[in-house]
Amino acid sequence: MVSVAFINPLSDEGEIIVRELGDFGRVLSDNDDLMQIVTGSRSQEISNDSFIPRNYVDLAIKRIEWFVKKKNDRNFDNNQYDFLFNTEILKFDVIAFYLLCQAVGVKYGPNSRESRVMVESQGKLIEYRLEKLSKNVREEVVTNILNSLISSTHIKWTFFEDLISTKKLKLQDLILDQGEIVLDKDDFLERFSHKIHGRKPEKMYEALIGDRIKELVMIKMVMQNTENYILKVGEKSDREIEPNPILLELADKISDVLAASVRSYGIGGSYRGNVKASALNPKAFPPCVKKVMEGMKSGGRNDAIIMFLTPFISYARLYPSVFSENITKQISDIDPSLSIVQNEVLPLIFEAAERCTPPLFEDQPQDKVNLNAKLGFGMHQDPDLKNEGETIWYTPMSCEKVKIHLPSLCKPDENCKKIGNPLSYYNMMIWKVRKEAKTESTTDNKE
Ligand code: SF4
Repeated sequence: MVSVAFINPLSDEGEIIVRELGDFGRVLSDNDDLMQIVTGSRSQEISNDSFIPRNYVDLAIKRIEWFVKKKNDRNFDNNQYDFLFNTEILKFDVIAFYLLCQAVGVKYGPNSRESRVMVESQGKLIEYRLEKLSKNVREEVVTNILNSLISSTHIKWTFFEDLISTKKLKLQDLILDQGEIVLDKDDFLERFSHKIHGRKPEKMYEALIGDRIKELVMIKMVMQNTENYILKVGEKSDREIEPNPILLELADKISDVLAASVRSYGIGGSYRGNVKASALNPKAFPPCVKKVMEGMKSGGRNDAIIMFLTPFISYARLYPSVFSENITKQISDIDPSLSIVQNEVLPLIFEAAERCTPPLFEDQPQDKVNLNAKLGFGMHQDPDLKNEGETIWYTPMSCEKVKIHLPSLCKPDENCKKIGNPLSYYNMMIWKVRKEAKTESTTDNKE
């Protein structure tokens, strides 16, 4: 039987493991037991010492590294992190989890990028750990954890208010009856069997709820509890005089991992000549974008600025290779402090909105909320990390969609023949400009 703490470190079993740690200073000492478990993991890659965590703090960093690389690195090799799925690592893993939450809580607080990454990484780790279990064990663990997290069979939907308001769970994923959420099979059959005709109620249960929804609810609850724990640590540390230096050092290391990921994967990508994210060059904008930048004088003003220009400018500046990389990102993955958004992206969009007749935000200030939503920061007035993820960061419209929804913008030139999206036009032009500049400098040097 797999311990529930392997999936939910915040469980009672997890707390017992933490209490048994003893001297906190041990988290930095080389631990032979840990190294033995890691090197003994079935598919573990051991060709390089750096793949092997030597102590609890190393293991904590490996947890974050796994998540960041898995999310961003196309050549990611899971065998370098196979130990994370070895159930024998349980005691070390639980301590590593608490170290991470505490480090993030004391140094960055719950509304930080580090906190979001920690919470998301826990969710992903649970998903992959569950996948490696046999069907029976998986069901048993999920049921045990759910039973400990939800004490009553009559669950009012308001019980999940936090999960729903933070968009971790969608109401439409759940089956509701008289304001109560139905998860349990017997409960479902009792409530709905007499109303289902022509299909077996058991089959309906499997299709509508089954293991899929139970796992989803369990994972999201553990994620929410992780976030709440980080919040609690942050509040407590505000009242303390001196945070533990080991935690502060770990917090810095977490930031370093994220910063390295931004350098390696967050910006850049390739478009023929390797177009990387850099300051915007308006000369490379396609005709449709140039037209909106001049200000919309007639119909389509709101859609042109909010639906069309906002995704274009934000992706062109921050993540121009979105279509070739095909990896979903949030803005803070690339611009953790949102300084590029504030200083480069928004000013350009606001300038274009100002040039419209009548100026968009003077005429309809409430549309700033829609703009913010298209950047992924929810229905709020300004971008704020704590709201990121409430909406999705919209990708730029394709040429086909522009032609249908905003036909007055599309006045194609020669270069438009080769592309299907205004962002590809921009990337191609940037690549051409850089190539020409390189050729010129080589010629100058020769001369
Ligand atoms: S073809 Fe595409 S890039 Fe060119 S003007 Fe039309 S919408 Fe813009």
